[in-house]
Amino acid sequence: MKVHEYQAKELLAQYGVPTPRGKVARSVDEAEQIAGELATWPLVVKAQVHVGGRGKAGGVKLVKTQEELRAAAQSILGLDIKGSIVRQVLVEPGVDIRHEIYLGIILDRATQRPVVMASAEGGVEIEELAATRPEAILKLPIPPLYGLRPHHTREVLSFLRIPASAKDSFQRIFNGLVRAFYEKDASLAEINPLAILGNGEALACDAKINFDENALYLHPEIAELRDEGEEEPLEVEARHKKLSYVKLDGRIGCIVNGAGLAMATMDIVKHFGGEPANFLDIGGGAKAEQVADALQLITADPAVNTIFINIFGGIVRCDLVAEGILTALDRLPDFDYPIVIRLSGTNDEIARKMLEGTKLNLAVTMSEGARRAVEISSSRAA
Ligand code: GDP
Ligand code: MN
Repeated sequence: MKVHEYQAKELLAQYGVPTPRGKVARSVDEAEQIAGELATWPLVVKAQVHVGGRGKAGGVKLVKTQEELRAAAQSILGLDIKGSIVRQVLVEPGVDIRHEIYLGIILDRATQRPVVMASAEGGVEIEELAATRPEAILKLPIPPLYGLRPHHTREVLSFLRIPASAKDSFQRIFNGLVRAFYEKDASLAEINPLAILGNGEALACDAKINFDENALYLHPEIAELRDEGEEEPLEVEARHKKLSYVKLDGRIGCIVNGAGLAMATMDIVKHFGGEPANFLDIGGGAKAEQVADALQLITADPAVNTIFINIFGGIVRCDLVAEGILTALDRLPDFDYPIVIRLSGTNDEIARKMLEGTKLNLAVTMSEGARRAVEISSSRAA
């Protein structure tokens, strides 16, 4: 789960990380009122959206007067940044940045541990830097058994050539970032830029934290920070219906029971030259309610032109699934997408008999089902 910059900064401040103290405004007047409270110039006005590269998109402005502030808030509120419409701006004191550093910690799947990443060439997006100047990035895996040790901090300090004047504040930022990452079950926490200021100190000028969805139940105070307006609408709906759904770009809607089978289904659709429209695990039960919800969810995506239902009857019986599908289709009388269905496992023969004579396209094996779904989908696209 992603949160806004101002929320990430508030959290980091609780961990002792120095950040500019700002406030969020939803209108130009509110921005002006906050400016009055802060009573300092210059200020920065920053778009609060869940996408990066706001600076380049005109979503970050340094302002020196009341007029500039109004104009900046006016132009940023309502701005479309990579598909996200700006509804709120952060107004905070502008600072005298001399040098921009990147500091982040991510959960690295390859090494299966948290990895600290640092670069003296901050300010730009880390993906961009990794592509052009990978040698400018220090990657420091943190051993799970010992956690962060003083020698890690020394290595980062020396790699970044942090000046003596900034050592204390830099260490407060580093320790706070790492503790927040661990204690709140983040999957990514980064500060970019971590600025070295004219007065010699280090300050966290931007912050981004993503949290592990599966650990959110342990952190209700983090779960509360969710902004559904920033999320994929179909994924929000799926979460409310307790379906595990990820939207993809293809045309074949997949309904599958079990996460592993869902992955395998996407692989085999691709193997036969098709593109899945989604990952969707409806769970073990596959009752009528879930199937109907899943069909509605998937077909709300206008790119979908074919449905592939792939069910393995392990714990669940295939005849119960078939009944669920028939009931679901009864509830959706106008449903006219071609459906290829493969049912195998417990009572699969009974299930197939139940579905014979319907409009459903029955397949016995997974490859047969996938191949047919791909054929139908490409003939409809043509
Ligand atoms: P991002 O583009 O979405 O990552 O937004 P950032 O918060 O990183 O801001 C982009 C850039 O704006 C930074 O890299 C800085 O160069 C600049 N910036 C942000 N805050 C300040 C500030 O207080 N003072 C100055 N001089 N520049 C700032
Ligand atoms: Mn940034």
